[in-house]
Amino acid sequence: KFVEILTIPFIRTTKDVFVNRIIYPRLMNEQKTFVVTANPEIVEYANKHEEYKQIILSADYITPDGIGIIYASKWLKQPLEERITGYDMMHDLFELANLHELKVYMLGAEEAVIEAAVEKVKQQYPHSRIVGHHHGYINIEDQELAKSIADLKPDIILTALGFPKQEQWVNMHKHLFEKGLFMGVGGSFDVLAE
Ligand code: UDP
Repeated sequence: KFVEILTIPFIRTTKDVFVNRIIYPRLMNEQKTFVVTANPEIVEYANKHEEYKQIILSADYITPDGIGIIYASKWLKQPLEERITGYDMMHDLFELANLHELKVYMLGAEEAVIEAAVEKVKQQYPHSRIVGHHHGYINIEDQELAKSIADLKPDIILTALGFPKQEQWVNMHKHLFEKGLFMGVGGSFDVLAE
């Protein structure tokens, strides 16, 4: 079930159903998955930049991040249930990682921020396995970095580079990975590190 808003198809479900009935089984089956949490800024940017739009449309799922998307869906008389934000889903993914001892890689934000964010995750989700992290001030085309991340075989790869870079990075490098749930989380590491 999808609702198309300005040519972007959003999944029509609740966060809990999305995480537990779609994402959880895909993680357990090691199915590679790309999730984009799109807010109105992303939709607007995608409609102005065809290359970025194709990246967004290549995602397995696009979720509504931002109340503006919910309002638009109501106006179209195809109401989306609720916001499904990168920040909330990041916590749900850490929770799954904690329960199932999944491997997580965290890419993005400033050095001090990512260090603090990793510490927070280790405290709050002690059974999750943070197999690596890197700050986000990188050349997104850097193949060596991407390969070194792929070699760790993470189950979950969170990119906090801001859009459009975080989705561009996933698009450029996910072919190097055998498995993994890829999701851009914007400024979420900054919030986590606070
Ligand atoms: N960032 C990064 N590399 C960059 C640009 C930004 O790692 O080249 C990080 C920045 O430190 C912050 C996040 O990406 O942690 C961007 O957050 P913002 O809220 O601006 O992203 P948005 O939610 O707009 O995608």
